[in-house]
Amino acid sequence: MTTKTQEWEAVIGMEVHAELMTASKMFCTCAVVDTTLAAPNTATCAICTGMPGVLPVINRKAIEYAIMVGLALNCEIPPYNIFARKNYFYPDLPKGYQISQYEYPLAVNGWIDIDLPDGSIKRIGIRRAHLEEDTGKLAHMDDGSSLVDYNRSGVPLLEIVTEPDIRSAEEAEAYARKLRAILQYLGVNSGDMSKGVLRVEANISVRPVGEDAFRTRTEVKNLNSIRNMYRATQYEIERQIKVWESGGAVKQETMGWDDARQATVTQRSKELAEDYRYFPEPDLPVVEVSREWVEAIRRQMPELPDAKRQRFTEELGLGAYDAGVLIADRAIADYFEAAIAAGGDPKKVANWIITEVFRLMNNDNLEREDIGSIKVTPQTLVELIGLVDKNTINNNIAKKVLAMTYEDGGSPAAIVKEQGLAQESDEGVLREAVVTVLDDNPDEVQRYLAGEEKVANFLMGQVMRAMHGKGNAQIVNQLIAEELDKRR
Ligand code: ADP
Ligand code: MG
Ligand code: ZN
Repeated sequence: MTTKTQEWEAVIGMEVHAELMTASKMFCTCAVVDTTLAAPNTATCAICTGMPGVLPVINRKAIEYAIMVGLALNCEIPPYNIFARKNYFYPDLPKGYQISQYEYPLAVNGWIDIDLPDGSIKRIGIRRAHLEEDTGKLAHMDDGSSLVDYNRSGVPLLEIVTEPDIRSAEEAEAYARKLRAILQYLGVNSGDMSKGVLRVEANISVRPVGEDAFRTRTEVKNLNSIRNMYRATQYEIERQIKVWESGGAVKQETMGWDDARQATVTQRSKELAEDYRYFPEPDLPVVEVSREWVEAIRRQMPELPDAKRQRFTEELGLGAYDAGVLIADRAIADYFEAAIAAGGDPKKVANWIITEVFRLMNNDNLEREDIGSIKVTPQTLVELIGLVDKNTINNNIAKKVLAMTYEDGGSPAAIVKEQGLAQESDEGVLREAVVTVLDDNPDEVQRYLAGEEKVANFLMGQVMRAMHGKGNAQIVNQLIAEELDKRR
């Protein structure tokens, strides 16, 4: 049998647009508002609606946030950067041009390490990060008309572009997760892709393994979650392989992701840079970035995910896997650290979060990063672990109490008291239950004495059942062994 198997590999470069959470917009004093909540066109002025004759003024905080991101991405911060006009017409762009950066971006030549599912780490090059202004938002109505909201127009937007170093949809996902975590840790972006404040685009091509040159790429946009980004990338890789294998050629175009059809769809053929007729923005000065300014910003930077992981393993004694899970998202790391601050033992807290808390959230269709909004507070979790440590309740009852606090909130100690869930550690009471179970199960006792040791588990289950789950497991275990010995 002969099979024609050409091995293909993907080549992917990511372009991410991140709105910066400054108080005001990039070039005017309008507030940056949540455009999914604010009434349309209530945070606008003559500057961000592109009226003739007005002058933009650079938001210093936006520059500082962008430098901070550049440093976090291990970029060089050139001594000056220059805003440029990117000319094109679209109804969401009232000036007819977008103020962006082109030849002289704010940050260049960086890298980040991404964490792959198999535990390995890969370094992805960051080509550049530049500042621009966001556009307005169009809403297309069923009757064919379109509405525009300029609240988003002029919001500071940082575009972060990688080298084409990514080789699979898994790596693309790991990149998006790591970058999002870094932005969240820095406090410059919420990471909420469903609200469009973080927008991830994948430039994708494929080539036969061993071929040096890159082939034509497509760009997939409109990805409102990391999950959809992964699916779209995987789909697009497979689609392109089929095109080449059937003797066709991939066309350079911009695609979107159709969630209903679970397929990428053509949106438009791609503009070339020359179509935009970039030129330096005459209304803005060159931005000079002194080394002192850069160092002052560097000193204010919070701990980033990689440093936090190192601290969690080296200082708190967590395993690499647990630490990786806990640092993956700022909300999870914050929750964990709040529990440690409340007196929790790091390993026990990590274990309860990763197994039990995540299981409850998963059953509830919550994402792990929603951990900040659940009814089990970090303090609640520490209180629960304390009840287990003091032998007030056993592990199984603790899981039940956790589920109760997950549903209704409240204090584990109070729930244990109200519902009489404290465990029975009285030897006399427990021995009586053990003896009754052994008397009631003579066949099992015989099998045990004949060498079938696992029967002890069954007997344990019977005793716990008789104790309504509240027996002190350690003591019960020991008493079963003792009572069985007596019957040899
Ligand atoms: P443009 O200016 O059209 O956006 P760039 O050259 O800036 O194009 O590249 C945009 C992104 O596409 C970068 O992340 C880059 O790494 C990636 N890229 C460039 N060529 C390819 C290719 N052939 N296949 C996949 N990705 C590519
Ligand atoms: Mg680009
Ligand atoms: Zn404005």
